[in-house]
Amino acid sequence: MKMPLNSVYITSLPRSGSTLLSMLLGSHDGVAALGEFVLFGQALSTNSLCSCGKPLQECDFWGEITRQLNDQRDSFSTLVYPFDFSKTGFQKKLSKLYSYALRHHHALLLDLTAAFPQGYPYHMKKAADNTKSLLEMLANRVSDTDTIFLDASKTTTRLDYLITMKSYPIKVISLVRDGRGTLHSWLKDSDRSFPDTVRAWRWHMENQLRSLKEIREEDKIVVRYEDLCRNTESELKRICDFLQITFQEKMLSMEGPFHMLGGNPGTIGNSSTVRLDIGWEKTFTQEELNLFEELAGEVNREMGY
Ligand SMILES: [Zn+2]
Repeated sequence: MKMPLNSVYITSLPRSGSTLLSMLLGSHDGVAALGEFVLFGQALSTNSLCSCGKPLQECDFWGEITRQLNDQRDSFSTLVYPFDFSKTGFQKKLSKLYSYALRHHHALLLDLTAAFPQGYPYHMKKAADNTKSLLEMLANRVSDTDTIFLDASKTTTRLDYLITMKSYPIKVISLVRDGRGTLHSWLKDSDRSFPDTVRAWRWHMENQLRSLKEIREEDKIVVRYEDLCRNTESELKRICDFLQITFQEKMLSMEGPFHMLGGNPGTIGNSSTVRLDIGWEKTFTQEELNLFEELAGEVNREMGY
């Protein structure tokens, strides 16, 4: 059996350009963009739509695998992290504790896995194993043995877990965007207050930066959304070097079909141009910008903004 040795994980916050990056990279002959791979279990149980527009079971890419797993469709979880991190308060504390335990007490967690066969640790290990076996199934299906599987699940906690578990080798693309741009996008459909949204952004961004520090230099690259939009070709060439593949001109035209999970078939594959969204510059008041600076300016500058 071939091993899925070519797995690349995109870590980013929502609305930071991960779909765009997935489409650009996924247009390369040697890259299979999986979208939010973490959602496979859910997609399997509901036979939801692939970004190509077909239900998973009828999709050219996922169809055979989902049919093979049909008898497990209600139990095949790929969600390695059982908590909802968008919450504040207790859940936030719990998640910090868990991240700490993951980093420093990995052996203890494995013991817990054995001691509580139906508890969270068991559930998480099972989900990581499922994720790995899915990659192996995919690797066995594609004709090119060097195919790179691009997992744009984005969440740092999932990445931390997969790396801690040493589930399979993973390279990381850390995609960042000016916090004011991400914030502007989040606020469009959020009923949280401006300061709460800034604090949430800061918390998630700090997690992403902290997680990145634990990854070896040769296994990671940082990509800025704005650079990707402004200098698309040179940024793609830099990423291709990192992935050890040769840049292909057709990447720029983002021609599908794409078989990405968690995406909207209406937006994935229909946009063939790269457009930089910096609407925040015209929208935010000086007062809001000052507040952002006060609450999160330091973290934004750490990324070069
Ligand atoms: Zn598809």
